[in-house]
Amino acid sequence: MSKIIDGKKISGEIKDELKAKVDKLSVKPKLVVISVGDNPASKVYVGQKEKCANYIGINYLHKHFDAISDDELVNVIEKLNKDKNTNGIIVQLPLPDGMDETRIVNTIVPEKDVDGLTYLNAGLLLNNKTSMVSCTPKGIMELLKRKKVDLVGANAVVIGRSILVGKPMMNLLINANATVTLCHSKTKDLAKITKKADVLVVAIGKKHFVTRDMVKRGAVVIDVGINRVDGKLYGDVDYDDVYSKVKKITPVPGGVGPMTVVMLMKNVIEAYENQNN
Ligand code: NAP
Repeated sequence: MSKIIDGKKISGEIKDELKAKVDKLSVKPKLVVISVGDNPASKVYVGQKEKCANYIGINYLHKHFDAISDDELVNVIEKLNKDKNTNGIIVQLPLPDGMDETRIVNTIVPEKDVDGLTYLNAGLLLNNKTSMVSCTPKGIMELLKRKKVDLVGANAVVIGRSILVGKPMMNLLINANATVTLCHSKTKDLAKITKKADVLVVAIGKKHFVTRDMVKRGAVVIDVGINRVDGKLYGDVDYDDVYSKVKKITPVPGGVGPMTVVMLMKNVIEAYENQNN
């Protein structure tokens, strides 16, 4: 069996499963994506979301503002919160400097918060209650499930403590009964910890940071990193260096990345179902 966890293939399968589900609905779920400013990476991510939504049959609306005040944006979101036809809302991050991301994201009502970033959804996840879960960690859990990685009692190590990836990842792994260690830039003797990991999730944003000497033989390695250098994408893990030592590994590109956008669509459909029950 291949060692490679093929996120592109698995995300394609899920996309088709979601499309089949949406095809049967007379009223289609609707996602509204809000972006502000001209962040080039955001443009790419918004484009990927539109393409995926169109494929699945989700109604997609992109509201773009070259510039907008916090108060005006809060008004826009409050209107969408009340709009019965809108099932999911996301604000593409990062917002331009000076905007209050926390206030703006937390304006979204939790049941339409398909990025899972509001305090309420984060708190529900912490308490192991049903919630909208952040798309990248949700996608990683789906990869681990489909690859039958046994998490019960496993030593899982997450490097990175962002709100978007590291912290929700930690909570999902705890909820799945793994024993979890969360590492960050102040962690001492990182390699000593990572070498004990049966499952190692790396989300730091540094090209080829994790090398062979840092992984346990037979580990499952999940590389979240997307590092663009001279137009090429690299992960946080030195894939070629660790490959012969690991049991399973996600490549970059083609691992975690394609899962993220599909999980967003899964969240939109779940939000639609919850709102219509
Ligand atoms: P982030 O908010 O910048 O967080 C990075 C984390 O890495 C921080 O917690 C930081 O620690 C930690 N870190 C940095 N240097 C470290 C070091 N030398 N040793 C140990 N920990 C270190 O980043 P993020 O949003 O979580 O994203 C991480 C990476 O994943 C990026 O490359 C991003 O592009 C990628 N990403 C990919 C997807 C996808 O769909 N594939 C989705 C989201 C993000 P401190 O907290 O101590 O600063």
